[in-house]
Amino acid sequence: MHQVPTYRFAPSPNGYLHLGHALSACLNFDSAQQANGRFLLRIENIDQTRCRPEFEVAIYEDLAWLGLKWEAPVRRQSEQFAAYRAALARLAEMGLVYPSFESRTEIARLVAEQERSGPWPRDPDGAPLYPGRSRHMDAAEQARRIASGAPYALRLDMTAAIARAPASLTWDETGCGPNGETGVLAAEPAVWGDVVLARKDSPTSYHLSVVIDDAAQGATHVVRGQDLFAATSLHRLLQALLGLPAPTYRHHRLILDADGRKLAKSTGATALCALRGRGVSPAAIRRMVGL
Ligand code: GLU
Repeated sequence: MHQVPTYRFAPSPNGYLHLGHALSACLNFDSAQQANGRFLLRIENIDQTRCRPEFEVAIYEDLAWLGLKWEAPVRRQSEQFAAYRAALARLAEMGLVYPSFESRTEIARLVAEQERSGPWPRDPDGAPLYPGRSRHMDAAEQARRIASGAPYALRLDMTAAIARAPASLTWDETGCGPNGETGVLAAEPAVWGDVVLARKDSPTSYHLSVVIDDAAQGATHVVRGQDLFAATSLHRLLQALLGLPAPTYRHHRLILDADGRKLAKSTGATALCALRGRGVSPAAIRRMVGL
């Protein structure tokens, strides 16, 4: 069956869009147009403490100002918790999910203990891998702690997950990773350790929801910043476990500030709305991001 090329832009409404978002959004939109395909929008607002309605409104304004048109309805993650719960339940039925009860402070202490005898592995985002103390807790003890109201995180048992997935897990990269990686790439999800898929008070995580949403929206192409290149290994693993199709990925360079740092939403100077307020045109924005 021929699939219509489908692109998506998936910002989080936890700040104003900046030049880096403009690059992502325009690349997705332009690619969809060139391919006679679809351009979809998704609002990644699972983190209800950081996301604000006014930032979501600003996303629509900024994208419309840039001249982009997207299909309705917009998928909003806050309306999809049932889909994330169902996916998590499937992984749990496969025996790939377990609750861990340590607080962040306790994890930091456990890691510091380990580090007395040598370096402890970090994930690609720089966080120490989970030291795994809750991994083999027996079911009765797990149930007792959960019933007592203890906070917990639901983690993917990475070793078991990799054993369950096809041995050669790859993705098509038409952009490139930070070290120039391109072409058919081997996924390396083990570098993430036992990642958190959900928490007691939050039924999903970025990694789980992004694979569910990309499949639900029929995304055939994922164009996004290189900061998410390493996460693709994990996304491919989750797709394989959940029987979801693999999109083609294109990771693009990041727009850096004058000090060579990735743009942050908190520094307003490169916010699209600020640039617009200073009279910068959409065409000039495109030039600024190298399009
Ligand atoms: N919501 C993510 C961000 O704003 C992008 C997710 C994705 O494109 O997969 O950085």
